[in-house]
Amino acid sequence: MPLNFSRVEFVRSAAKQADFLRDGLPQFAFAGRSNVGKSSVINRLVERKNLAYVGASPGKTTQINYFLVDRGAYLVDLPGYGYAKVSKAEKERWGRLMESYFQDEGGLLTTGVLIVDIRHKPTENDLTMHTWFQETGCPEIVVANKLDKLKRSQVEPALALIQETLKLGDETPLVPFSAEKGTGREALIQRLNTACRQ
Ligand code: GDP
Repeated sequence: MPLNFSRVEFVRSAAKQADFLRDGLPQFAFAGRSNVGKSSVINRLVERKNLAYVGASPGKTTQINYFLVDRGAYLVDLPGYGYAKVSKAEKERWGRLMESYFQDEGGLLTTGVLIVDIRHKPTENDLTMHTWFQETGCPEIVVANKLDKLKRSQVEPALALIQETLKLGDETPLVPFSAEKGTGREALIQRLNTACRQ
């Protein structure tokens, strides 16, 4: 049975490894640089206006938020990266938290969802996150958000640039998406459901 992404509830925030969830349910981990629209993509996916907090402040960069989807999987909102105003200490905290999530013995991750901005070449930080996802050996889906900001003729070249920069193979779907308009929602849900069954 495909997961119903509209059936969703907040479970907990974790700022340290001891608080991670490891009950064996699949985990879809969402990552992206600040302002890429990660909260908006999640809210669009679950059809809620405010489940993930849009415009979260830099102070919130070091916690992982867990949402339970249809009692069958977790949507894991990893803290965003690349905030301009974050202190060195907080960046280090972010790095340690990510490292512990990716290296957790419980093998927590099932699918990585990397959100990038369709208008821009992926950043160094995007590349790093992409590499971390790849190293887990789990399927990864790349979401190219803010599709509505491009003219139709700009879409293909923009997708090609993302594909090239991240060196995406055929096994990694690249989903054009607009959190604003809802474009790509069904495609992303289908990809997540497929990954979940693998
Ligand atoms: P986060 O920091 O990655 O969680 O990003 P937010 O979800 O807070 O979004 C950052 C800004 O981008 C907000 O002003 C959103 O309204 C805007 N935004 C997010 N997704 C889209 C999109 O698909 N299209 C457009 N036009 N704006 C978007």
